[in-house]
Amino acid sequence: MSAEPYIGRLAPSPTGLLHLGHAATFWTAFVHARQHKGTLLLRNEDLDPQRSRQEYIDAMIEDLHWLGIAWTPPMFAQSQRTAQYRAAFERLLATGTVYPCTCSRRDLARMIQAPHEESDDEPVYDGHCRPIAEASSDTLEPGVNYRFRVPDGETIRFTDRNLGAQGFIAGIDFGDFLVWRKALTTDPADVGLPSYQLACVVDDAETNITEVVRGEDLLKSTARQILLQRALGMRTPAYFHAHLLRDEHGTRLAKRHDALALRTLREHGLTPADVLAKVARFQR
Ligand code: GLU
Ligand code: ZN
Repeated sequence: MSAEPYIGRLAPSPTGLLHLGHAATFWTAFVHARQHKGTLLLRNEDLDPQRSRQEYIDAMIEDLHWLGIAWTPPMFAQSQRTAQYRAAFERLLATGTVYPCTCSRRDLARMIQAPHEESDDEPVYDGHCRPIAEASSDTLEPGVNYRFRVPDGETIRFTDRNLGAQGFIAGIDFGDFLVWRKALTTDPADVGLPSYQLACVVDDAETNITEVVRGEDLLKSTARQILLQRALGMRTPAYFHAHLLRDEHGTRLAKRHDALALRTLREHGLTPADVLAKVARFQR
């Protein structure tokens, strides 16, 4: 049996400029794909119409090229794949693992962005709208959000290729999470949007990703995504969560710090090699 071909992905969100932290993860993803003589895909995570901007898409492509990261074109965009996410969501409805939630919450605006860091991770849901038992449904209520019902008390385990054995307890470390966001306009063509969690598992499965390389601030999202994969009958890829960049005091380098934007560093005369040396110094 020959080893299965390696397929990795770069998944930037075009909501800002790429910074040193992105360089760290994306370079790791690139090196892994190269070492395995595999394929690296570029997925534009532009689900959020409010925050995604064409200028950031152009900038991310330019910055990746400048750094020396190569991928297999064409780049694809999540905003073009709503029908696939919708189909997966309807399968979830039929399995009874999702339920409508009418709570209005501040985090709804952010659910189509990947949660990063403890502080802006999706809060554990209090279960207000959770039905007593699982119930499948073939009718979809418009104008409400949907949550995935997590198996309370179960430890979701996986072996991370960088960080080793991981376990997160459903209902404690994370709760019933959002999978579908209701339409925000009255346009009949607007069916709403998948959450980051759902879009990510659908894309990783449909593009046959064998290894996901991303930052360690997404570890809990991996536990959520493993539950979605299980409910949808999808394979779980390997995961490699890269260390976040920290300074000599162990403080995390601020993500949205303009001084750390790759183009700012470039404008200050740093070469790609200088940037990668900086990454190596801060990644531990
Ligand atoms: N676009 C996501 C981010 O900004 C990617 C998350 C992932 O790699 O799954 O981090
Ligand atoms: Zn609710």
